[in-house]
Amino acid sequence: MKEAPRLNLAHLPTPLQHLTSISEQAGRNVWVKRDDLTGFSVSGNKIRKLEYSLAKARAEGADVIVTCGGIQSNHCRATSILGAKLGFKVHLLLRGEEPEEIEGNLFLDQVAGAEISYFAKRYYQAHLDFIAEEICEKHRQAGEKPFFIPTGASDAVGVWGYVNAAEELKADFARLGIQPEHIVTATGSGGTQAGLTAGTLLQDMPVKVTGYAVCDDEAWFVNKVDTDIRDWAESYEIDLDLSSLKIAVRDDYIGEGYAIASKPIFDTITKVFRSESLLLDPVYSGKAFYGMLCDIESNELDGEGDIVFVHTGGAFGLFAQRQEWLKYSKIL
Ligand SMILES: *Cc1c(COP(=O)(O)O)cnc(C)c1O
Repeated sequence: MKEAPRLNLAHLPTPLQHLTSISEQAGRNVWVKRDDLTGFSVSGNKIRKLEYSLAKARAEGADVIVTCGGIQSNHCRATSILGAKLGFKVHLLLRGEEPEEIEGNLFLDQVAGAEISYFAKRYYQAHLDFIAEEICEKHRQAGEKPFFIPTGASDAVGVWGYVNAAEELKADFARLGIQPEHIVTATGSGGTQAGLTAGTLLQDMPVKVTGYAVCDDEAWFVNKVDTDIRDWAESYEIDLDLSSLKIAVRDDYIGEGYAIASKPIFDTITKVFRSESLLLDPVYSGKAFYGMLCDIESNELDGEGDIVFVHTGGAFGLFAQRQEWLKYSKIL
């Protein structure tokens, strides 16, 4: 096995907490892994992956980080903030027109001093590789050394973040004397699920990992997670039998599309906030939490064992959708 360099950036280990009220309502023990507490400005799941991606960038002598995502990308926000602190210039390639209101994650990108380029949605979706290469080439022409981090830092190096989190969860389970049957999380670019799936296999943990898709369908994510895991295993010469690899994706709760949440999602956010003081977001964790509750009820998350919800953060994205919350809650 090849070691991957790592920077210590996240507040770890994050707590694993029992959700008493939700468990009572659901008739099933639900725990939450508080990866919304990996930091404050850099909170969420991306920092675990960036500990490895940014270490690699530094080891390669890069001075500019180029990365990409949606306008309210949590990954871009985390990269902007950590990049600034580590002395990198950060250049974000964002999908969509520049909005009139600069809020949520996008506001923090600007406070952190990131350079931002906006691209029309269709053009971005069709030509992201080309756009990224063109921007990197511009930086090279300017005498800089760019390092490109793909969407969500979901690639071979990023997988390490949640391989590591699986090890942390194993220690949490041992400390609490529990043996959960399921680990569930939101899945958006696949890296979190890839790390958890590979990590639980590597740690021989008898637990099923399920990702709740927030954009693309099951087939797309199964392929993406599988590819990330195989790239990781190959790049780092991991001695792991991948023949028993199981990738479980639920794609019933995407709704109208990425970042578009319906009333049940906002109702779930409100309910969980009021009963557990847990702040979910409408793009990722709220959709996944809603999906989990529905799947407990229909026994799609089979068995009777405990369930661990990995809270991947995203709170700033809720602030960017406060009008939607107000609308669905009939306050407006
Ligand atoms: C990026 C993100 C996810 C999805 O994680 P992936 O590793 O990209 O699948 C989930 N929740 C939040 C809050 C995120 O920012």
